[in-house]
Order: sequence, then C-alpha cells, then structure tokens
Amino acid sequence: MSLGIIILVVILATIAVVVSISVSVFVYNKKYRDFVLNHCESIKQFQLINAKYNFNVVPNMDMTNTYDNENIYGDISCMDYLIYQLAYNYRKVESCLDATYANQSLYSEYKKEFKESVIPLTKHYDVNELPRNINKLEKVEKNELKKMLKNPITDFSITVKLVLTQINGVYRHSKYDVFYSDKLEELIEDVKDKRGKYYERQYIWDAICRVERGKVTNRMRFFIYERDGYRCQICGRRTDDLEIDHIIPISRGGKSTPDNLQTLCHRCNYRKGSNIIYR
Ligand SMILES: [Zn+2]
Repeated sequence: MSLGIIILVVILATIAVVVSISVSVFVYNKKYRDFVLNHCESIKQFQLINAKYNFNVVPNMDMTNTYDNENIYGDISCMDYLIYQLAYNYRKVESCLDATYANQSLYSEYKKEFKESVIPLTKHYDVNELPRNINKLEKVEKNELKKMLKNPITDFSITVKLVLTQINGVYRHSKYDVFYSDKLEELIEDVKDKRGKYYERQYIWDAICRVERGKVTNRMRFFIYERDGYRCQICGRRTDDLEIDHIIPISRGGKSTPDNLQTLCHRCNYRKGSNIIYR
C-alpha cells in the first residue's frame, strides 16, 4: 500500500470514531434530558410558577453618536449628550424606569415563590425507576431548572458612547459612560425643571448648547461654505478666515440646521455677536 492510501484510511477512521462518539454522547444526554423534562416534579411546579409571572420588557436605550471634529468631540461629554436626548424625549426613559421598578418588586416575589416550592429529593420524580446515573440526572435537572428561571431587567441603565472619526468616517477614538436609574431620575427631574422655554438649571442648558453647537460637523461646515460660495454673507468678501454662524444663536433657541447656518468672515461674525440681525 502506498503512504497516501494509509494516511487516507487513518483520516477516515479518525472521522468515524469522532462522529460515533459525538452521536452516542448526544443520545446519552438526550435520554437524561427527556427523562427530566417528562418526569421531574420540580420542573412541573416551576412551569406553573413561571406561567403566573409576566415581567415587563424594557427596551434598550443605549446611545451612540459620532463626531468628525476633535475639538467638538473633546468638548462634549457623554452626560451632555444624554441630557440633550432627555431634553427632547425623557418620557421614553421614564417609562423604562417605571417598567424596571415594577419588575423589581415582582421579581422578589417570584424568587421567594421559587425558593418555597423546592421539592424534597425523594419525591422529585413521578416514576419509581430512575436512570442509572443519579449524579448525571441531578446535574441535568439543575441545568434545566436554571434555564427555566426568568431573568427580567431589574436594573436599568443607559450606556452613552461617543465616537471620533476622520471626516471620511474612519475611526479615531471613542469614550463611553454608563448611567444608572438614580442618576437618570435626577437628570430627568432637572430637565423637567423649566420656566417656559428656559431650563432652570444652568448645567442642563449648557449641556444642550454644547451638543447643539457640536452638530455642526466638519462635513456640514464645508457644505455651508460651498453653498455660500466661500463668501461672507454680510460683507461679501472672500477671506481665509471664514466661520460658520448661527443666524438665530443657539442661546436663543437656534438649531444647527443648514437653514440656520451661514458663512461669515471673522470680523463680521465678531461684530454680530449674539445678535440675530446685523446692521
Ligand atoms: Zn464679512
């Protein structure tokens, strides 16, 4: 026989052995699993308990935002970004918190009922004849019970991630922060604390302004310059110190949208300050 044929035979034999071992392990495990699922009294008991408890589904509210300008990325914290989002839609987060608190109290009842319903080992099964390997049986039972245990969200949090990229979208850096329910509640209270359009808390207002200002990405900046023909929209000069100006300033509720942005030279921008109309 040539060496090639010998190697082939060895490989085929190895495959055959591996396949037959895995098949028999599978059959063996399935036998125990089926026995537990069909005859275990604890499983039946736990199924009844499980059917009684319905936990709230709490949606994931994690946030990610991308910046292509290093200064803006450095200026805005994860909390600033969260405050901005809460200012526009805190109700959704509030309902997540309510759902979580409801889960918490229900979950402690659920766990208590689980503990109380533990069945003495001698009465574990509804048949007298058990499979041979008792250790294996107990292990499978434990595993199945663990799988049945519901695992609702009882601790809500929001992870905010900010990413810095190059203008073409290539990744450069990222940072993140996690906010738990106590902090979220505190922020929501402060965001709600408004008089008319104005936020009573200075730090809330500052955060919102930073994030709004940060919405002028490099990409948008060049789009506005291009649209305005690289000319100051007040004096009409083409200079190399062009800047982006918010027509209605952010401090007066202006947004970072193209219709509220214009190209100004440094001098005109300085003279305009935070006035809306330049004379
Ligand atoms: Zn000008």
